[in-house]
Amino acid sequence: MSGEQRGAEKITDVVLVGGGIMSATLGSLLRELQPDWTIEVFERLKDTAMESSHVSNNAGTGHSAYCELNYTTERADGTIDISKALKVNESFEVSRQYWSHLVEKGCFSSPQEFITSVPHISFVRGARDVAFLKKRHEALCRHPLFEGMEYTEDHKQMAEWMPLVMAGRECGETVAATRSLQGTDVNFGALTHGLFAFMQRSEKVRLRTRHEVLTLRRGQGGLWELKVKDLHTGEVFPVRARRVFLGAGGRALTLLLKSGIPEGRGYGGFPVSGMWLYCSNREVIEKHHAKVYGKAQVGTPPMSVPHLDTRRMAGQKALLFGPYAGFSTRFLKTGSYLDLPLSVRPGNFVPLLMSAGTNFGLVRYLIQQVLQSPRDRFRALEEYYPEAQSRDWSLRVAGQRVQIIHKDPKTGTYLQFGTEVVHSADGTLSALLGASPGASTSVAISLELLERCYPAFFRSGPWPERLAGMVPTFGKSLPEDPELCRKVRRSTSEVLGLPR
Ligand SMILES: Cc1cc2nc3c(=O)[nH]c(=O)nc-3n(C[C@H](O)[C@H](O)[C@H](O)COP(=O)(O)OP(=O)(O)OC[C@H]3O[C@@H](n4cnc5c(N)ncnc54)[C@H](O)[C@@H]3O)c2cc1C
Repeated sequence: MSGEQRGAEKITDVVLVGGGIMSATLGSLLRELQPDWTIEVFERLKDTAMESSHVSNNAGTGHSAYCELNYTTERADGTIDISKALKVNESFEVSRQYWSHLVEKGCFSSPQEFITSVPHISFVRGARDVAFLKKRHEALCRHPLFEGMEYTEDHKQMAEWMPLVMAGRECGETVAATRSLQGTDVNFGALTHGLFAFMQRSEKVRLRTRHEVLTLRRGQGGLWELKVKDLHTGEVFPVRARRVFLGAGGRALTLLLKSGIPEGRGYGGFPVSGMWLYCSNREVIEKHHAKVYGKAQVGTPPMSVPHLDTRRMAGQKALLFGPYAGFSTRFLKTGSYLDLPLSVRPGNFVPLLMSAGTNFGLVRYLIQQVLQSPRDRFRALEEYYPEAQSRDWSLRVAGQRVQIIHKDPKTGTYLQFGTEVVHSADGTLSALLGASPGASTSVAISLELLERCYPAFFRSGPWPERLAGMVPTFGKSLPEDPELCRKVRRSTSEVLGLPR
């Protein structure tokens, strides 16, 4: 199967819609697995990685479940369920392996272009949350994926780990923290640019920016027919493709609904925008070196977890606090206010209504966030940094998330947090929907997607060997193999310049 001419009509093997981390990861994997296939990428903006994948539009946390308390839940009997934490951590190890492979291939001049070591700390207050953190630590640190994770209730120790968080705090306050030195900050924007640059070394790959995919429908012979608008000239032209992957961020939902595939019926989306407080005081920025995640308030969604974050942006250390949520009807930061109303269809009207009616936590959280005054926002920062000075901080808008709404047949719930992939039955169309931990786990998500779409290629031919070269643990379970886990972490840490 390869791109071919039929008269004047060209058929592309793979079309990727959108120029974010998802299309970049999927496209670069395909370029390695099947170098003779033609790949066309369409991006509506003037450059890649300008939406959620841009460095300042997401938190840059290499999600590994070290510090994000929402990946471990307390069961009714008081024990801690760590299954999601293991999955997220293993998925991030898969990303680290693929990124190491690309670094070794010379795709980046240095891994520090996109990944740096930043300790991940969970910080909690009050006896109840301290008890939870202690149990969580006991459950996780026994596991090789979480080896070396530290726990303390000692104020002095915590003051060394995070001086800004502890200064000005009463010495009798009941607090606790865990720390993992394996934590990372990832510049997903730089990574996306690197992946596209690598893809474009092949003449089989073509990236067209300022090109918007308007519609798509199933055509003759099982091909997909897309209408693409050249935003430079206004010209609309057809594109025919064997496979289409919708990595269009919030707008992937819009295109999925336009495709008319039955598997997309019933999906809706609810946009939530993010905001950060940025610190402008260099002295303060230099005093902090960690991503400090707290615990979301009971009943609030995972996106509400506050964190005080060391970041690496534009070659400089930065300090952010947030996220704060806002409401907008756009599905992209640069989208249209009509995105949400135009996405409502007879098929998803009920799920949208039911989700609004049953997710009181999210609704209450959004109303409370939207009504917040600058003083309220600053008070939230003071809980993490009691001596913060308002003159050092200013508010900036981050990226747009679209929370996916769809009835989960198992749980009967409507709102889905995390990343969801919807495929057509024949595997010729896939849509990547949703948000975190999407970017961190983009490699594992892409591999699962490819396996679903090209099952025969995964069983025989050159793919299994090529995959093993890119992701050595592919098809193996890290949680079940402590030795493999340690070996692979040692080797990726060495290549990526991270602590072992
Ligand atoms: C506030 C916030 C914090 C986050 N924090 C983290 C974090 O700490 N760690 C983490 O791993 N993830 C985080 N995420 C999630 C992460 O940013 C996303 O999962 C990831 O960036 C999604 O990548 P994407 O390629 O799917 O989408 P995007 O990066 O949004 O790219 C989609 C692209 O498609 C283009 N497009 C849309 N429609 C069309 C069309 N019709 N034709 C052509 N092009 C089109 C858009 O212009 C855009 O460039 C965060 C997200 C937000 C909003």
